Amino acid sequence: MKQPKVFVIGGGASGIMAAISAKRNGANVTILERNSRIGKKILATGNGRCNYSNKDATKKDYNHPEFVDVVFDAFGPEHTIRFFESLGIVPKVEDLGKVFPMSEQASSILDVLMYELDYRGVNVVCDALVQKIVRKIDSYTIFLADGTQFDADSVIIATGGKAMPKSGSDGIGYRLAESLGHHTTKVFPALVKLTLESPYLKHLDGVKFPGTVDLIHHQEVIQSEVGDILFTKFGISGPTILQLSRKANALLTEGEKVSIRIHLVSSLTKEDLELRLKIAEEKPIDFSLIGLINKRIISALLKEVGIEKQNTLVKDLRPIEIERLKSRLFNWDFPVTGFKGFDDAQVTAGGIDISEINPLTMESRLNPGLFFTGEVIDIDGLCGGYNLQWAWSSGYLAGRFASGRIHHD
Ligand SMILES: Cc1cc2nc3c(=O)[nH]c(=O)nc-3n(C[C@H](O)[C@H](O)[C@H](O)COP(=O)(O)OP(=O)(O)OC[C@H]3O[C@@H](n4cnc5c(N)ncnc54)[C@H](O)[C@@H]3O)c2cc1C
Repeated sequence: MKQPKVFVIGGGASGIMAAISAKRNGANVTILERNSRIGKKILATGNGRCNYSNKDATKKDYNHPEFVDVVFDAFGPEHTIRFFESLGIVPKVEDLGKVFPMSEQASSILDVLMYELDYRGVNVVCDALVQKIVRKIDSYTIFLADGTQFDADSVIIATGGKAMPKSGSDGIGYRLAESLGHHTTKVFPALVKLTLESPYLKHLDGVKFPGTVDLIHHQEVIQSEVGDILFTKFGISGPTILQLSRKANALLTEGEKVSIRIHLVSSLTKEDLELRLKIAEEKPIDFSLIGLINKRIISALLKEVGIEKQNTLVKDLRPIEIERLKSRLFNWDFPVTGFKGFDDAQVTAGGIDISEINPLTMESRLNPGLFFTGEVIDIDGLCGGYNLQWAWSSGYLAGRFASGRIHHD
């Protein structure tokens, strides 16, 4: 029987998975990658450790839960962890279900994938920038920037979104899809640092502390995260902020106003705090806060509540100053002015409209034989292994179904 010719555009996480899956299902598979090697972004993931899955990932962790649910039914976190185990990766599960390779090296993930591609006989063509895809009656012609052409029974668009463009994902995949009649929803950076309006940023730059942080919209808390918070010279970062950024950025791009509320002493009650201040009555206020919050925040906090003379004894503070201080320790609001760009973002929110893709197969509803995987689709998840999980799941399905198509001359 003639082997179907499957071409995967993009050798990132989802494209590599799609290629392995298509090859295991009997297709003749070629990856076309614009870089001089595949998997560049994988090496940068999880701070070089590759948080390749989240064992607790479910549909609710993504922007289009019902679509993801169908895909995870076919190939979810459990399948993924088993798949990587079969390639030789021993999983190490950390807090909040995050899964890393036991080697703690992202390169191990790429190494085992490359071994599998080679072992199965997948063709990998690098320095191959795909510029055009033309649909014929029941097949496709792919054109590279250097003029080379390939004929394919199925094409899998695995070009990623726009996050970290220097890794090769600069949004060209949207144009390829649009040229075939697809639509792209609004795209914006997600899992990214936020910029804040505050006179204290220069002073707070580099201060990292654990705490609770809320995202506020119309005076209401719309998301809350606990963990590390990091001030930078332009705003705020850290795992908590990355998690909030998706919702914040969606509102900001709609012209809505949002702010970040920091709880510096979330583990204390109001009574605990009052007792502490009472015990420290004879001491200067700046000194009495030392055991409570990061030392570098104290001066900004006292300025914020209007206590100019920072060594004022606690007992000499006016009741209004004490009240303001207590209130800011529990709730300190910073208006969000914006977010950093795609260069800094871990993921792209938005992408190819999911209504044009069948979640059972990842095949286009507009073009039979055209498939999509990973971040190029309008699917994004939380920070913590969820986006690579999506890449593997969607890649697996696309590869499997793309291999079922044969074009008869
Ligand atoms: C710094 C950083 C850290 C991250 N850490 C994690 C993490 O620990 N856990 C997690 O779950 N997620 C993480 N992510 C997100 C995750 O890496 C991505 O969601 C995932 O890699 C997307 O896979 P993809 O295959 O869709 O796209 P990509 O990995 O972006 O791959 C797309 C590939 O297509 C190629 N390409 C693009 N256009 C063309 C073209 N026209 N012709 C040929 N080739 C083309 C690109 O060069 C690239 O190799 C991180 C992201 C970043 C930026």
